[in-house]
Amino acid sequence: MASLARAIRPIASKAPRRLVQLPARPTEIPSILTRQATRCLSSTPIRRNETIDLTDLIPTPITHYSETESMMAESVANFATNVIGPKVRDMDEAEAMDPSVVEQLFEQGLMGIEIPEEYGGAGMNFTSAIVAIEELAKVDPSVSVLCDVHNTLVNTAFLKWGTEAQKKQYLPRLASNTVSSFCLSEPGSGSDAFALATKAVKDADGYTINGSKSWITNSAEAGIFIVFATLDPSKGYKGITAFIVEKDTPGFSIAKKEKKLGIKASSTCVLNFDDVKVPKENLLGKEGEGYKLAIGLLNEGRIGIAAQMLGLARGSWEYAVKYCWNDRKQFGSLIGNFQGMQFQIAQAYTEISAASHLIYNAARKKEAGEDFIMEAAMAKLKASQVAADVSRSAVEWLGGVGYTREFPVEKFYRDSLIGSIYEGSSNIQKQTIAKLLQKKYTT
Ligand SMILES: Cc1cc2nc3c(=O)[nH]c(=O)nc-3n(C[C@H](O)[C@H](O)[C@H](O)COP(=O)(O)OP(=O)(O)OC[C@H]3O[C@@H](n4cnc5c(N)ncnc54)[C@H](O)[C@@H]3O)c2cc1C
Repeated sequence: MASLARAIRPIASKAPRRLVQLPARPTEIPSILTRQATRCLSSTPIRRNETIDLTDLIPTPITHYSETESMMAESVANFATNVIGPKVRDMDEAEAMDPSVVEQLFEQGLMGIEIPEEYGGAGMNFTSAIVAIEELAKVDPSVSVLCDVHNTLVNTAFLKWGTEAQKKQYLPRLASNTVSSFCLSEPGSGSDAFALATKAVKDADGYTINGSKSWITNSAEAGIFIVFATLDPSKGYKGITAFIVEKDTPGFSIAKKEKKLGIKASSTCVLNFDDVKVPKENLLGKEGEGYKLAIGLLNEGRIGIAAQMLGLARGSWEYAVKYCWNDRKQFGSLIGNFQGMQFQIAQAYTEISAASHLIYNAARKKEAGEDFIMEAAMAKLKASQVAADVSRSAVEWLGGVGYTREFPVEKFYRDSLIGSIYEGSSNIQKQTIAKLLQKKYTT
């Protein structure tokens, strides 16, 4: 019990302050995830679908990290600042992810955080993934969402629903060199996520998929795609089925790349399926289980998007307060000395902390095997609101320079607005929260 308790609600971290020394040349950075770190949490209880008995646990503050999580936070922060940081503006202007960033994410073990070591991953817990997503977003929310979708949606899909053969075939690639996408949305199916027009037809060898998908994150870089299609339209959402599609499958094409307001370096494309033949081995889960699979993954994934928004809020707040408290003087005083500014700064920090508590509570509940759907919805709702509010304030606090591309806060603000749209809009999160509350309070 003691060791499980450490993994689930660790007592205050005693992690060494500097476990990974960054060398002068970024390409020489050693893997963030040392063997010691990976062993520490390799028995994440949720992987065994167990509910953990928490009754004997001494309650600890929700935001305390385990040693491994602390190490993850510090190491990813260093990596993001030193390796990704110098590329952020150029990637945003080019509206493209630098391939070397993707390579480094793999090298650092950040693309297989929860994948067990036997399949080449880091074997860490869900909260470690959340920590990494948050730290990446403090520097670049585009890189963060690449890592987030790959880890919390696709890797989790294989871990939870893959057969042993599928795990052996795909997890080592997902952990080491192949980016992935989660393909649910379509032109006519966004919030109404299961009104799919993409169809799959079964034949002797497998399935044939026809249709198209919209707004698919990572699709320009991805080699593996999880695709949802309706196999039996007469069954409604219960006819939806998940398939594994490889990039080079004939008939599959990546079409228009969207030009976006924010997270511009993250690719978002239209995908077309013209008689795409998928062998029966590429069925993920059972026929008709696609709905169940997608809804479960998105419930978890929302905690990841919330973490992306939290990192973004922290990144913009920290940049702005350093400017206010160190650099900019007006009326003979640093602008951060004015009470009018201090009250805004304090309010923003309080909001960030509130979002953080919701997120880490949702993550811990998920790891403990408890219901977390409402907590995840609240975390995403709040974090996306806080990210938009705080990054907007950061632009204002920097004044004229905040409005220019010379400073990072305008990008954080543009990037923040996606938080209330993808993986369920804010209205859809409120709908989920209200539905669960209504169930509880209806007599
Ligand atoms: C950058 C980006 C990346 C994305 N990545 C992916 C991806 O990787 N994979 C994927 O499958 N999808 C992805 N999406 C799609 C995304 O999940 C959808 O855009 C989102 O679910 C909203 O759907 P929609 O755009 O059709 O909006 P709509 O559903 O048309 O919603 C428009 C507005 O109506 C409101 N609304 C809709 N229904 C209701 C209701 N019942 N009650 C109250 N309000 C309602 C919404 O809250 C919203 O404000 C991405 C989108 C973007 C922009």
